[in-house]
Amino acid sequence: MTSNQFSRRHVLGAGAALAVTSLAGCAGMGAGPSIGRVVVVGGGFGGATAARYLRMWGGNIDVTLVERNASFVSCPISNLVLGGHKQMADITRGYDGLRAVGIKVVQGEVTAIDAAAKKVRLAGGGELAYDRLVVSPGIDFMFDQVGGLQAAVDSGRIAHSWKAGPQTVALRRQIESMPDGGVFAISIPKVPYRCPPGPYERACMVASYLKEAKPKSKVLVLDANPEIQSKKALFEKAFDQHYKGLLEYRPNAELKEVAGTVAKLEFEDVKADVLNVIPPQRAGDLARTAGLVNVNNRWAGVNWLTMESTAVAGVHVLGDATFPAPAMPKSGHMANQHAKVAAAAIIQLLKGEAVNATPVMVNTCYSFVTARDVVHVSSVHQYDVADKTLKTVPGSGGVSAAANQVEGRYALSWADNIWADALAL
Ligand SMILES: Cc1cc2nc3c(=O)[nH]c(=O)nc-3n(C[C@H](O)[C@H](O)[C@H](O)COP(=O)(O)OP(=O)(O)OC[C@H]3O[C@@H](n4cnc5c(N)ncnc54)[C@H](O)[C@@H]3O)c2cc1C
Repeated sequence: MTSNQFSRRHVLGAGAALAVTSLAGCAGMGAGPSIGRVVVVGGGFGGATAARYLRMWGGNIDVTLVERNASFVSCPISNLVLGGHKQMADITRGYDGLRAVGIKVVQGEVTAIDAAAKKVRLAGGGELAYDRLVVSPGIDFMFDQVGGLQAAVDSGRIAHSWKAGPQTVALRRQIESMPDGGVFAISIPKVPYRCPPGPYERACMVASYLKEAKPKSKVLVLDANPEIQSKKALFEKAFDQHYKGLLEYRPNAELKEVAGTVAKLEFEDVKADVLNVIPPQRAGDLARTAGLVNVNNRWAGVNWLTMESTAVAGVHVLGDATFPAPAMPKSGHMANQHAKVAAAAIIQLLKGEAVNATPVMVNTCYSFVTARDVVHVSSVHQYDVADKTLKTVPGSGGVSAAANQVEGRYALSWADNIWADALAL
């Protein structure tokens, strides 16, 4: 293990490293006969990490990763693209690192899971057999909750940009085309949604661009929630300190309908030049069609010792698609931790060994409030044997005392490290 690998695992996988101490001596790649076939669906934060760690810790496991996109495009740091501080190339990475460590990477769409026959079906008609399946499909949107939204997104009039890629490019173009003196409105859905601080970071990033490039403009934050959902005091301070007169925050402003770029709230209509709607969310489509969604008709329940679905045996669900443990955010960092617990447990299950009885997971989310100043929130989550869930460890975690530029550097390093960790870069 190089010191670089050590520091990555140290930073990103403290809990999972604990979870696999019994595997420390078996990291040889490809030695001996295969102990099993694992198919991983979704090459985002959860799936890519799981594929990589199954190979790294399990060695002689056949791992196939199925991902619909040709490249990995990161949501973390994508708000900086919207602010003009980073380019798409800065948040885009390839899957060659995973191929190089012996993972079969298939670009394709999984359309169905046959859990009885232990097979997944691909859009092109092929099938892949598995002994254990990992599903990390991220989120999909509940467009039906906001009148007119599906058509507006389909036509390109409104971009959600809550999945990074073409949507990020589309929203950046709209912001660049906005007139000086125009209104950028961002609509935030009620929790739970992917990345609790993400919308407030986005508001700051767009405001940072407009402050320089189109200073007569306005940013309206229309929040369906009664207050800022993460790092509240720090975002309030940033709004006041850097964007006073430019950015306006409105709580309890749930979006009911869109008409053109008019946001129709319960008691008023808000006319915007650019309307960015973050739609209400649920587990990704595949989780739903495969019968994995069993909590609130929205999320996939899991056994936190193994990340195995509580609905379908032999299928492990990771990341944003899961019904979270108390105070557990839907984040890339958390998906990375789910993946490591799942990878360790799958290897142990394939070997007929006992799984770790007390997994620990950690999370850190950085948010840019200016192009350089950053704030963080962190937490540690430990398995509680009595309640069979992960709970935050008393006294652990917390938030920055104040926004600062040192954390600005940490945030960019965090992104580089977690992409490298997931994609074997
Ligand atoms: C603007 C923004 C900023 C964010 N910032 C941060 C941050 O700073 N830190 C942080 O930790 N998190 C951040 N997040 C959250 C983070 O992006 C998500 O929590 C993370 O991506 C979840 O990982 P996942 O594996 O569940 O889903 P994803 O990363 O979305 O991966 C799902 C993958 O599955 C693929 N897929 C889905 N269905 C199929 C199928 N049927 N067949 C084949 N492929 C399929 C998709 O193409 C996708 O690549 C941010 C999110 C946003 C929107």
